[in-house]
Amino acid sequence: MDQPNPHRPAQKQPMPGTTDQMMPTPDHGETSYVGHGRLEGKTTVITGSDSGIGRAVAIAFAREGADVVIAYLSEDEDAAQTARHVEDAGRKAILVRGDLSDPSHCRAVVEESVKAFGRIDVLVSNAAHQANFAEFEDITDEEWRHTFAVNVDPFFYLVKAALPHMSEGGSIIGTSSINADSPNPGLLPYATTKGTIRDFVAGLGQMLAPRGIRVNAVAPGPVWTPLIPSTLPAEDVATFGQNTPIGRAAQPKELAPPYVMLASDEASYIIGATIPVTGGRPFV
Ligand code: NAD
Ligand code: MG
Repeated sequence: MDQPNPHRPAQKQPMPGTTDQMMPTPDHGETSYVGHGRLEGKTTVITGSDSGIGRAVAIAFAREGADVVIAYLSEDEDAAQTARHVEDAGRKAILVRGDLSDPSHCRAVVEESVKAFGRIDVLVSNAAHQANFAEFEDITDEEWRHTFAVNVDPFFYLVKAALPHMSEGGSIIGTSSINADSPNPGLLPYATTKGTIRDFVAGLGQMLAPRGIRVNAVAPGPVWTPLIPSTLPAEDVATFGQNTPIGRAAQPKELAPPYVMLASDEASYIIGATIPVTGGRPFV
């Protein structure tokens, strides 16, 4: 296996961050992911798939045979790059730019997806906002609300809009976090939303199981994505992930396999679960 954790200098970039400014460039599986037709012919929607984990999942989904709707905030170049990888895999890519904290945009993402593909087989709610605060008093009311408006509310609105276009065999996947189990106090609003996502999939999974639609989440530990240099203090970026038993952050490509599994029909009995991918940090 290639070296997954080359030296990472302290670095900072503005939110939401872009891939080409990251040192070193993350590995999304561009040269390594091999599909086996596990999602052949499925139509998938992935929010936040311009970069990071979402890009790795888009590449994997496409190489497994799926068409992909790539929803993203504003990172046009990153999104175009993800689309190129999907098209290189011989699948269709649809780009939808915009702010998911607006419920009408959540509905627009679903409308664009249905217009393009006629139905939705797999919905991945993966976009997120996070910010770091030293003191509780530093967290403004607006910041608290905005974190929920980006991380939690769109999951509800997307599911609501998508459900009429999903049928038996469908799969809904959220992105939670290690913070759902052991919240980093510096990321209090974010950590709280990630716990909410874990609870949401556990409850919604029970609600939709009789309809044959499975709902689950993946809970990543530290992963080298634009979220990190755009939201953490520069010096924390250099040591990011070293506090895991494996001793390093994940590359985005190391997160793709559980999303592929949860999206595929092989996961027919996995419902309401949150799957940890944490480099050995316990998640109970
Ligand atoms: P990322 O920055 O590559 O992806 C997040 C994406 O969310 C961005 O690309 C952006 O386009 C999108 N986004 C942000 N705000 C938005 C908004 N208002 N409207 C629409 N889209 C918006 O980072 P990532 O680390 O790949 O994040 C993907 C998911 O993984 C997130 O849910 C994040 O919480 C989760 N996660 C990441 C880590 C990590 O260490 N990187 C750890 C645990 C969980
Ligand atoms: Mg991005």
